[in-house]
Amino acid sequence: MCGIVGYIGQNEAAPILIKGLKKLEYRGYDSAGIAVFGDGIHVVKTKGRLADLDQKVQQQGGVKGMVGIGHTRWATHGAPSDVNSHPHTSMNGRISVVHNGIIENYLQLKAELEEKGYVFASETDTEVVAQLFDSCYNGDMVDTLIQVIGKIRGSYALGILCNEKPDEIVAVRKDSPMLVGLGKGENFIASDIPALLEYTKDYYLLNDNEIVVLKKDSVTILDMDKNEIQKEIYNVTWDISAAEKGGYDYFMMKEIMEQPKAFQATISPRIVDGDIQLDQIQYTNEDIQNINRIHIIACGSAWHAAIVGKYVIEGYARIPVEVDLASEFRYRNPILNQNDVCIVISQSGETADTLAALREAKRQGIRILSIVNVVGSSIARESDDVLYTWAGPEIAVATTKGYSTQVALMYLLALKFGQVRGHISKEDMQMLVKELQQIPDCIEKLLSLQDEMKALAKAHAHANDVFVIGRGIDYAVAMEGSLKLKEISYIHSEAYAAGELKHGTISLIEEGTLVIAIATQDQLYEKLVSNVKEVKARGAYVVALAKEGNTEIAEVADKVIYIPHVHDTFTASLNVIPMQIFAYYVAVERGCDVDMPRNLAKSVTVE
Ligand code: GLU
Repeated sequence: MCGIVGYIGQNEAAPILIKGLKKLEYRGYDSAGIAVFGDGIHVVKTKGRLADLDQKVQQQGGVKGMVGIGHTRWATHGAPSDVNSHPHTSMNGRISVVHNGIIENYLQLKAELEEKGYVFASETDTEVVAQLFDSCYNGDMVDTLIQVIGKIRGSYALGILCNEKPDEIVAVRKDSPMLVGLGKGENFIASDIPALLEYTKDYYLLNDNEIVVLKKDSVTILDMDKNEIQKEIYNVTWDISAAEKGGYDYFMMKEIMEQPKAFQATISPRIVDGDIQLDQIQYTNEDIQNINRIHIIACGSAWHAAIVGKYVIEGYARIPVEVDLASEFRYRNPILNQNDVCIVISQSGETADTLAALREAKRQGIRILSIVNVVGSSIARESDDVLYTWAGPEIAVATTKGYSTQVALMYLLALKFGQVRGHISKEDMQMLVKELQQIPDCIEKLLSLQDEMKALAKAHAHANDVFVIGRGIDYAVAMEGSLKLKEISYIHSEAYAAGELKHGTISLIEEGTLVIAIATQDQLYEKLVSNVKEVKARGAYVVALAKEGNTEIAEVADKVIYIPHVHDTFTASLNVIPMQIFAYYVAVERGCDVDMPRNLAKSVTVE
């Protein structure tokens, strides 16, 4: 949510800020603005898109200066409007601030500042930071920032500019993403790497409450006692093309097509001579044997990957698994045992709900293993162990390759834990690992279903309701397929355990209602065929997903999409592909903004 870019160097700041913010558009925003120091601080901001901001900048004859901060806002306090947009400036114009997050005690601080005579222009919590900084300002940016941090509560990534200090930007983060980009004669701050990839591959990843003093020729990181912190440089190996559309209309399709590669990159370094090796995590065989219960905590699609995880980990490792929505886990006073393990899953590694749940589990002394895509993100840093999904940058708000690689890691954990706990024979293990290694090729095959899914999408683009049904792991993937449709096409869709439909929801099936029936669990196949018959009898139009060779279903369904014949365990990775492509084309057909669906943000950094 929201994006921050800051620049100090030898080039014009405004174009760099706006270009950087454009690369962060995927995070979701409703307004944008920049503050540039040239002849004093010049602020331009507007409700709307970056194109609107650009236009406003041009109308003002450009904004000159080589130091500046920029922001895309995802409104939390005060409606999206020109005046609520960032940067926010202190009443006297001395201090400009961009902020991502929420200042929880802003009302109290605002009242105190108003008593001192400060007058507020906006409804935001952020303006309080600008005025507070001004009221504390003693000529030293770092001292002042430390005082401000001592007074504010909540989550923040802050970039601050002062018109008396044109040669520095100060910045800090707490529970909101921010990093430093290192250049030659120029330096940057940003919420995420794609904003800066054009300029540098060298970064400092920041911990909470590390203070950044950004100058043209130096970057200093200080702790709250003003001690200098020596940081390691994080060198990004992917290049700029990884964060560009590369000829596709939308990032989402590019990312759908990248799934074989992403899946492969996630599993192959962890399979050595047919054996699963999870050396990146510090789990001895004894540790694995001693696990009492696993709690998997996640939100959105990651939660669906977690449900696949429950099926496979319980199935292979015979460890009880509870799956929790992060926003629920934290507040339900979960019962945790010393030998439990929490697995937290988050693509961005910054999901506020998941981070809060992680901290709750940690507070109770539970060991945390995180599954994260963004290296060095908050969740990765705060976990005891991390397994990275090697999906590369995911830009489209609706996840595809992020989800697929999370599922891949669920398989690896299930098989590894199952083997160590003695529930999988050597032969079965060999067979399963071999199948797993073939999944990228099977995904590749399914990617050629474009035309078929496009035609299907055209035919159903105006559906009012869609139901997706399945049993077992197929039910887990039904939830993900259904969510994809909701997220990007805005069609109401529900996922149901196929056997549960008759206990209520079947009343919603009427003539022509689209039902997608996933029937790829061998054991449950006949049951699913019966469920298809039940909805057909009520007039549904049924599209079934079945394994190649299972042709009986063609007699009951209106259309069948066949997936390659793989072991039941791995079907989730295949079934999701046609569903993603279907959702994509339905959204295109309905004229939706596929990459940036309404009301959604990629990295949900507020609770
Ligand atoms: N809470 C701030 C506001 O509503 C910042 C929102 C954001 O992170 O974009 O302006």
